Amino acid sequence: MTDFPTPRGTLTADRPLADLTWLRVGGPADWLFQPADLDDLSGFVAALDPSVPVVPIGVGSNLIVRDGGIRAVVIRLGRGFNAITVDGDRVTAGAAALDAHVARKAAEAGLDLTFLRTIPGAIGGAVAMNAGCYGTYVADALESVTLVLRDGTVTDRPAQALNLAYRQSDLPKGAVLVSATFRAPKGEPEALHALMQDQLARRDASQPTKDRTAGSTFRNPAGFSSTGRADDVMDLKAWKLIDEAGLRGARLGGAVMNEKHPNFLTNAGGATAAELEALGEKVRKKVYETSGHQLQWEIRRIGEPTP
Ligand SMILES: Cc1cc2nc3c(=O)[nH]c(=O)nc-3n(C[C@H](O)[C@H](O)[C@H](O)COP(=O)(O)OP(=O)(O)OC[C@H]3O[C@@H](n4cnc5c(N)ncnc54)[C@H](O)[C@@H]3O)c2cc1C
Repeated sequence: MTDFPTPRGTLTADRPLADLTWLRVGGPADWLFQPADLDDLSGFVAALDPSVPVVPIGVGSNLIVRDGGIRAVVIRLGRGFNAITVDGDRVTAGAAALDAHVARKAAEAGLDLTFLRTIPGAIGGAVAMNAGCYGTYVADALESVTLVLRDGTVTDRPAQALNLAYRQSDLPKGAVLVSATFRAPKGEPEALHALMQDQLARRDASQPTKDRTAGSTFRNPAGFSSTGRADDVMDLKAWKLIDEAGLRGARLGGAVMNEKHPNFLTNAGGATAAELEALGEKVRKKVYETSGHQLQWEIRRIGEPTP
């Protein structure tokens, strides 16, 4: 039995995680740690037996936690990590700050981070996933990050060190991102707010924003590379391949490929993580048979299946 350091924040044994994810599925974490602040986090992981894995999560909008839960200390940042500050054209946001808040606060200061407005995650998850939409991604604006490494070291890294690419980053294993600094283009606050309203309306029209989903289930298969940017245009849409395979509305137990947007795997009521994942795998197989494309999961799946 591992001895656990005593933090100032909250450390809970056997904590169910379903209510901390958008899909509302998944078993317990052996431990859930919600640190009070940066010192609490770095002190805790420094003192934690190095053999114990550490898994950071954000607000769970890109996650399937499997039904057997997670044999690790899951770290979820809260109030001590949600400050947003503006300095010239730089915006620094704590990892727990919601993307939407960061976009709004930046807009008030006349800075354009509008691409974050409609993404339902927090900044830690946005950097980890190189989140983005409507043609702009974290990689386009991120300048640097602050990390707490697994041994408790607090370190700053330039964005380039993260190798941000289409929905991926190279964060060191067990590292917790605690804040991110963006450089943002200038804009008129009113115009930025109008743009964000427009983006919200576009999203509600095309995606099931009120359902229990984790956003796009599969990455859009790479098309051709023409811009050389960190996040290139993905011309071939996963939703189209799924639709063409006749899988819009496909169901397995409580899991459904959403009628409104077939790349949104949905918990339509009472789904288990196993059902969601099995439906996803069924879709991958059928799409491969019909189109020859091997869809790759964009949703991060973590933890263990029920034995
Ligand atoms: C309706 C809907 C629409 C969406 N639309 C988009 C979209 O347009 N564009 C887009 O890019 N995504 C979209 N997503 C997916 C999702 O919102 C993003 O991937 C988001 O960035 C995830 O952030 P999160 O805080 O929820 O992270 P989580 O889902 O909790 O975690 C995602 C990954 O980030 C890691 N992570 C989280 N926090 C930290 C941290 N502090 N330190 C280190 N690693 C961390 C986790 O380990 C995990 O691997 C959508 C999701 C939904 C439900």
